[in-house]
Amino acid sequence: MRWSQYYLFTTREVPSDAEVVSHRLMVRTGMLKKQAAGVYSILPYGLRAMRKLEAIVRRELDVAGAIELTMPTIQPAELWQESTRWKAYGKELLRVEDRHGRSFCYAPTAEEVITDIVRHDVRSYKQLPFNLYQIQTKFRDEIRPRFGLMRGREFVMKDAYSFHADAASLDDTYEATREAYCRIFEACGLDYTMVEADTGNIGGSDSHEFMVLAQTGESEIVSCPSCGYAANTEKATTAELPRPVGTEGPLEKVSTPDQKTIADVAAFLEREPAEFVKFLFYTSETEEVVAVAIRGDREVNMIKLANALDVQHPQLASDEQVQELTGAPVGFVGPVGLEGVRLLVDPSAAALGSFVCGANEVDAHYVNAQWGRDATEGEVVDVLLADAGDPCPICGETMQKTRGIETGHIFKLGTKYSEALGCNFLDAEGNDEPMIMGCYGLGIGRTVAAAIEQNHDDDGIIWPLPLAPFRVLLIGLGLSQKGGEEVAAAAEELYGQLRAAGVEVLYDDRDERPGPKFKDADLVGVPVRAVIGKKGLANGEIEISLRRDREKHFVPVADAAARLIELARG
Ligand code: ATP
Ligand code: MG
Repeated sequence: MRWSQYYLFTTREVPSDAEVVSHRLMVRTGMLKKQAAGVYSILPYGLRAMRKLEAIVRRELDVAGAIELTMPTIQPAELWQESTRWKAYGKELLRVEDRHGRSFCYAPTAEEVITDIVRHDVRSYKQLPFNLYQIQTKFRDEIRPRFGLMRGREFVMKDAYSFHADAASLDDTYEATREAYCRIFEACGLDYTMVEADTGNIGGSDSHEFMVLAQTGESEIVSCPSCGYAANTEKATTAELPRPVGTEGPLEKVSTPDQKTIADVAAFLEREPAEFVKFLFYTSETEEVVAVAIRGDREVNMIKLANALDVQHPQLASDEQVQELTGAPVGFVGPVGLEGVRLLVDPSAAALGSFVCGANEVDAHYVNAQWGRDATEGEVVDVLLADAGDPCPICGETMQKTRGIETGHIFKLGTKYSEALGCNFLDAEGNDEPMIMGCYGLGIGRTVAAAIEQNHDDDGIIWPLPLAPFRVLLIGLGLSQKGGEEVAAAAEELYGQLRAAGVEVLYDDRDERPGPKFKDADLVGVPVRAVIGKKGLANGEIEISLRRDREKHFVPVADAAARLIELARG
């Protein structure tokens, strides 16, 4: 491709909402054009990278035995009503009506549609198992679209769905897909890890996420350097936390005037926050108010809480609700003497032999409170947000916390959708059984963005070879100046040789000065670069370098094509 004839216009202008480097670089290289919040056009240079990833994904899924199809992006409401997700998916589901007033949604995922297809086609265990996938646009009306392609509203996802007669068969496909994902992320040259994950809106039992490690990632991962346990903090558990010593004695009310936060009260009473029970009230769409007790120095994991309560969106109760329930303002509430409210106690709080807590009275706390003796024990449920330093649930070693970009997510769905939609098969004994399902997502745009997040420097993108839109950039210098014809002739020849060898080459034949050409070369990040200039040619040489280290190597003109072909193959 000749740059002068290509659609690739770099810019210095970066929108103020471009918070992460991949977003900035995708805008600066003209790959992304925002049409609305989280809705982008992807211009030719960016599309080439996406297509590279899609080809790798197809290749590896084919190896894993998956079969490609395509499903509509507009899906009828009826199917979503059958699965009950028309309601449960909430506001992320974009709903539309056609001219006849019929309801549809723009697909955020496709469990319903694939299950509908299969329930009409497949009757016998002899037709199972199979794994169907598509690479298709999705829409999720994200509350906070940001980071460009990383969290868009419209985005391209590879989604696969497998159907099985038994759990062992699902395990096989799950494992084959896990291995395919590892090969995909390795092939892209990404530093990634697989972690245990929450199943979220999709549902099901087992689930793992693939995380590309990056400080700008929105996901938090806790992991154990000793045994390899790794989980999204949404899901992560811990071994029992080391307990504070605590005190013994009768329940005692102490005055804590104006000491509202646990840190304040702890300092005032000369106690550790870990000796406190933090007491919080939550409501949700069901409007039931529940109380949650957790150790004073720890935070509630909202995903675990939502799962424990089987609700979508738990949120803190209002100050007024708290006052009404306890007779005290927020900051002075606790479990002692509290009745008529469902109480969940996190193990971190349940394990405290004695604790400090609000006395349900303004400016007062209790010390030496004990579960059972002074406060009802409640339901012990893990709602702890795991953190760095916590003991590993498997081996007890101290865990670390890192950040990652969730690029892939695989689930063992079980029979959630097959039961809801009546997707059954006849087993060998002739019994009608719901099919067992798995589903496997991989974000195409998000993975390309993650690759940039991991592969760039101050000057621009450093494409990993397998994802690079072009593998070689030829830069012709001074083409319109005196002596430029010779340079142009040498460059044309090399360009022809590379193309004949099937190398994807971008030839910067633009009538630009060397400075802007080199700046653009760094910015767009083609991995292999050849500079053809008058000076070099006079010495019979062409300058070859890699974007990654920019170390210059001077190669005889006659050897340049062979050398570039070799570098482009990686
Ligand atoms: P997140 O927690 O980041 O919202 P999710 O758990 O909702 O992700 P899945 O439903 O598992 O995501 O979707 C599968 C894959 O699709 C994700 O691993 C990710 O790569 C991609 N994906 C999901 N939401 C978006 C989005 N808003 N923009 C771009 N890619 C996305
Ligand atoms: Mg999501």
